[in-house]
Amino acid sequence: MIFDVITLFPQMFSALKDEGVIARGIKKSLLSINTWQLRDFSDKSHRNIDDSPYGGGAGMVMQVQPIRKCIKKIKQKNPATQVIYLSPQGQKLNHNLVLELAELKAITLLCGRYEGVDERVIESDIDREISIGDFVISGGELAAMVLIDSVSRQISGVLGNQNSLADSFAQGLLDYPHYTRPETVDGQGVPEVLLSGHQAKIDTWRKEKSFENTQNKRPDLLYNSLRLKQKRKIL
Ligand code: SAM
Repeated sequence: MIFDVITLFPQMFSALKDEGVIARGIKKSLLSINTWQLRDFSDKSHRNIDDSPYGGGAGMVMQVQPIRKCIKKIKQKNPATQVIYLSPQGQKLNHNLVLELAELKAITLLCGRYEGVDERVIESDIDREISIGDFVISGGELAAMVLIDSVSRQISGVLGNQNSLADSFAQGLLDYPHYTRPETVDGQGVPEVLLSGHQAKIDTWRKEKSFENTQNKRPDLLYNSLRLKQKRKIL
């Protein structure tokens, strides 16, 4: 998977490129993250990429010209790249959307700043808008990093011997509780079954706890999967 990121703050992406699971995925050549400094595509002598909004009001708006030029350059390299604008107005990122994006070969992520981008970019230059939730953050970089991390975890080999199928949401349920050494901490123990060495019993306990966790913390997930099953029966 190739990620091309258009941003005013390329250095922020070192958090992903240099640390942890994603950095290891890059080292194994399973993915790459290329950052593009938007100011490099400005026609202005001071490398400006924004201007004040027509109609007045506070805040600046990112201009069409540098964004369009940068996307054109990326597309010369990867004509099939899907161009995504990170935006609070976009489709909300969830497990199913992450799986869908993980099927792509190349993704270009446009990170907004200020009041966002000129609407004509949204009309003509991008394929879709994606949001990380119903709240506003100061720039698209953190949202792009969330997207890159969650999508990369679904690429075969990135997690090494970890398995994303055991994670929350992968089977429509939340994960089961985890424990590690020591056996007792400040009087708190570990459930007996996990110390029994009886794998079938451990698997059953984990399934039950997974269901219980979901019922307690996210009952909407159970309700949604039930509705889906009923819908499938009807169809
Ligand atoms: N004026 C915009 C609005 O209300 O829709 C918000 C602009 S926000 C301060 C600056 C940038 O942060 C946006 O252009 C977008 O790239 C990014 N951003 C903010 N919230 C986001 C979210 N929930 N999901 C994805 N990106 C977000």
